[in-house]
Amino acid sequence: MKKFLVLFILLFGLTAQADVMEVEQISDMPHFWEQNGRPEQKVLEVGAKIINANKLDKRIPINLDRNSKIINAFSSMPRKTVTIYYGILPYFDNDDELAYVLSHEMAHSLDAYGGPFKWIKMVYNSKEYEFKADLIGIDLMVKAGYNPIAAICTANKWMGESYWDFWIFTTHPKTSRRLLKMYEYIYVKYPWALKTDMVKNLNYQNFLYSSQKEVNAFLQHQKERSSKQKTEDI
Ligand SMILES: [Zn+2]
Repeated sequence: MKKFLVLFILLFGLTAQADVMEVEQISDMPHFWEQNGRPEQKVLEVGAKIINANKLDKRIPINLDRNSKIINAFSSMPRKTVTIYYGILPYFDNDDELAYVLSHEMAHSLDAYGGPFKWIKMVYNSKEYEFKADLIGIDLMVKAGYNPIAAICTANKWMGESYWDFWIFTTHPKTSRRLLKMYEYIYVKYPWALKTDMVKNLNYQNFLYSSQKEVNAFLQHQKERSSKQKTEDI
């Protein structure tokens, strides 16, 4: 009889425990939206801001893939979706950095609206389209009020540097070449950005150190160009 009593208490105790857990879960429900979907909310908010500020006349759906092991984002040519992996989120210090990645992928999606022949072109000239997506992406993010320096900050932070980038060995150009092209583009088109506080960012500073030779050559070239122009003006 005692054994039965112990068994009864154990079973009853477990049931009671289960009830308590259920009640706790229900009481947590009002916080559901605080605990779930926060990263999605942020990604969709910044994405919608870019799409609307640019008055894009094409649909670009944005997805967040919760795989936290992949540090990347991509654009689907047939579906035009922009997918961003959870794993990349910790690498963003602010909305501007997230805006660059979204804008870059959106630029690919906009090109993908060109149809299957364009897709073949995009695959065969993938490096050219990467540079293009970087620069169009910068235009898109600036129009939405984001600082383009963030493009260099975040790309320098997590994008790898391949050994070579010619022919079919890689689909993407070397990140250092992409960073330099973005810098040159910002210098010419958005010079105000070079006077913002974001240039103090450690990852931007690191870019300036690692690309010192190329940046100096570009600045020298710009100086010569402007002095030549001044002479012509006189
Ligand atoms: Zn790309």
